[in-house]
Amino acid sequence: MLPIPAYAARTAKALLEPYEINRREPGLHDILIDILYCGICHSDIHQARDEWGGSMFPMVPGHEIVGTVIRTGVHVTKWKIGDTVGVGCFVDSCRECEACREGEEQFCEKGMSATYNSFEQDRYTPTYGGYSTCITVNEDYVLRIPSGMELERVAPLLCAGITTYSPLKRFGAKPGDQVAVLGLGGLGHMGVKIAKAMGATVTVLSHSPGKRNDAFALGADDFVDTSDELSFSKNAKRFDFILDTVSASHDYNSFLGLLKRDSSMVLVGIPDPVPLSAAPLVMQRRHLSGSLIGGIRETQEMLDFCARHGVVSDVEVISIQNVNEAYERVLNSDVRYRFVIDMASLKQKS
Ligand code: NAP
Ligand code: ZN
Ligand code: ZN
Repeated sequence: MLPIPAYAARTAKALLEPYEINRREPGLHDILIDILYCGICHSDIHQARDEWGGSMFPMVPGHEIVGTVIRTGVHVTKWKIGDTVGVGCFVDSCRECEACREGEEQFCEKGMSATYNSFEQDRYTPTYGGYSTCITVNEDYVLRIPSGMELERVAPLLCAGITTYSPLKRFGAKPGDQVAVLGLGGLGHMGVKIAKAMGATVTVLSHSPGKRNDAFALGADDFVDTSDELSFSKNAKRFDFILDTVSASHDYNSFLGLLKRDSSMVLVGIPDPVPLSAAPLVMQRRHLSGSLIGGIRETQEMLDFCARHGVVSDVEVISIQNVNEAYERVLNSDVRYRFVIDMASLKQKS
């Protein structure tokens, strides 16, 4: 076992604080990664505060990991020491079920091993995430970071990037399409960049009027302030597709009214439940759907797509010692547009 420094929440009400965890020595097919950067996803906060129920403590969050391979198991063929790699939202799955065989490991029928707040495939060893100095991962659940990308700006692609790329691609954002991105946070700003790179015309729907200029700077073609009630009548039946990234409860029914006939809204944000009416769906034959991250193959495809199109995240790099303050700012929709922890700050303290 390798004892290493990390930051953990001890309970749902506790601030994150220094905590030591053990990583396993790399097995035959494992690699050991020195973590350089880890993004802060809103899912880290939902889980560290047990907002989805069933959280396991102590919890070391973090599933937007970029680092360097520092050791390899003897049978590892895909990676060598010195490679720059990424780890996203899961670190293993059964490999045998239909979902795994189709490369949709996130839907593993036996249950994927999430990067933290979960168990390894043995179903009893807890997983700990990227707010730590290193991580041991099976070689098949690791991503290749294309050369030349700024690593602190790549880390958020491992969750925010794939979570927006996957539904945009599946629902076919393409030139001429009116795509709306609802919520301009970590996921939302990646959604804007990726939808633009796919050629769509992109509108940001935001309840923060102060983000208007940022939306245009990120590449959006239009900005709609959803805190203004009139926005809903003015923009009725305007969009071919809405990507809903909002982390807090909001009225899906009014946003469905912004879709054209036969068009889709896809939820990726996971707030508390809210009532849904049939009428906005029925009357214009609209679709409401959801999407969960993406499999390993699609995540690699997304990284390569982003490298080709020069798409990276807009980040504010912080020290691990400021993680609790960063959580509060995310909760206040005050993140421009992803916090990324420089893990050197944890190594210096150890
Ligand atoms: P984030 O950076 O906090 O962004 C969420 C955005 O939602 C905010 O920037 C804000 O945008 C909007 N918002 C927040 N509170 C609101 C409110 N009360 N009313 C209306 N809008 C509000 O969070 P994130 O990291 O992008 O994550 C977003 C959600 O996606 C979270 O629920 C997270 O758990 C979930 N998630 C899902 C997946 C998946 O696979 N499906 C993957 C990762 C994350 P404006 O200021 O522009 O309104
Ligand atoms: Zn995430
Ligand atoms: Zn499986």
